[in-house]
Amino acid sequence: MSETSDVLVVGGSLSGCTAAILLARQGLRVTVLEQHRDPGHYKRACTHYIQPSATAVFERLGLVPQLEAAGAVPNSIDLWTRYGWIRPPDERLHGYNIRRSVLDPILRQTAAATPGIDLQLGVKATQLIREQGRVQGVRGVDHTGEEQKFSCHVVVGADGRQSPVASWAGVPTKEKKHGRFIYFASFEDLRLTRGSRSLMWLTDPDVAYVFPNDGGVTVLAVMLTADKLADFRQDIDGNFRRFFADLPDAPDLGQARRVSDYVGVPHYPDVSRRAGTPGLALVGDAALTTDYLWGVGCGWALESSAWLADTVGPVLAQPAPAAADVDRALQRYARRHHHALAAHHFFIADLAGGRMLNPLERLMFAAAAHDERLASSLAHYGGRLISPWRFLSPAKIARSLRVSAVASKATRARTAVTR
Ligand SMILES: Cc1cc2nc3c(=O)[nH]c(=O)nc-3n(C[C@H](O)[C@H](O)[C@H](O)COP(=O)(O)OP(=O)(O)OC[C@H]3O[C@@H](n4cnc5c(N)ncnc54)[C@H](O)[C@@H]3O)c2cc1C
Repeated sequence: MSETSDVLVVGGSLSGCTAAILLARQGLRVTVLEQHRDPGHYKRACTHYIQPSATAVFERLGLVPQLEAAGAVPNSIDLWTRYGWIRPPDERLHGYNIRRSVLDPILRQTAAATPGIDLQLGVKATQLIREQGRVQGVRGVDHTGEEQKFSCHVVVGADGRQSPVASWAGVPTKEKKHGRFIYFASFEDLRLTRGSRSLMWLTDPDVAYVFPNDGGVTVLAVMLTADKLADFRQDIDGNFRRFFADLPDAPDLGQARRVSDYVGVPHYPDVSRRAGTPGLALVGDAALTTDYLWGVGCGWALESSAWLADTVGPVLAQPAPAAADVDRALQRYARRHHHALAAHHFFIADLAGGRMLNPLERLMFAAAAHDERLASSLAHYGGRLISPWRFLSPAKIARSLRVSAVASKATRARTAVTR
């Protein structure tokens, strides 16, 4: 069987469905191949904290009322370091905590109902079709074993971190060292200490989260340095509970019911690839997968798909678009992706190796614990609403130095009075 469309998307998860919806709304014919047959399929390895930077894309997709009706929790996060709690003021801008078992089917149903999208479940892409040095389509196989051929102007690899599409196309993969494993599980009846606010502890170098989600379910996670993995595995439940019991202001797990198995990911190197080459775009994890510690992957899956739709969609929507014009648009998409995310990736990858906080990070966290404006700036940076350069601007560093000096002086004065 042979089919033709404007765009062929491999992968029907967050990035693939978002790209398909936003491209089809421009009048394009989009085919989505998803290897899983079950429309309710969802990604298990995810802790569901979706950063505020993604909210604009949810709004654009028209999904906010549906997410909120499904119980998505508007999120904000308090962060503990040894310098105390950083509690950003309530921001108008927020992301959502929503389990992937709820979110993924909502996005897939929306894609299936969008005019112009042909969502083919149970079809696995098996190879790219290339002609004259350019990607021109995809071969696939359906669940009965029947081979299929899809021709298109652009292939979109929305096929996750391993991205078979990228490797068939020969797009080089850059990997960065990763030094913290994760274990997480879902709990019910957990008495939260800060209402619906999420909590994060940077005990340096280890990390823990509490993320209240839809349906009264709270996801708890620990991320410890790789040298502790063998010991941790000896008694996962016991070690998990003991880690939380030692954290300041942590909820009491003794009162709660664990409602999932523990999910563990032992090793997860950052992966990055050029997001656009002739005839091919990569979105979501296929283009950039970073450390789970900062919970940025879902947001960037949505955002990168929106950038692709905005740069390449209008060119494809012209009558009989020339391949050279489409490829120039793909280059613009790759530049936009790099410009938006490369600096974030640099800082995330630098800490992902498992090192302790460096002096600059300690300064910024210590000051943010004492200053609302710096706490707000940190929340904007963590929410991926501002670049690292804005967060680390000379003015913010100077303010952090002043705030830290005043805080140290106050601590010394208190210590002297106590003596
Ligand atoms: C432990 C862990 C915790 C995380 N926690 C968070 C978090 O709290 N917040 C956050 O924002 N991010 C988090 N992430 C990252 C987030 O899960 C990913 O960034 C996100 O799922 C990427 O979406 P995607 O659509 O690009 O890829 P995926 O969700 O991986 O989807 C890829 C899709 O492609 C399909 N596919 C693959 N190959 C083929 C093929 N050959 N043919 C057809 N279909 C194919 C797959 O079946 C799948 O449906 C976490 C990741 C991990 C590992």
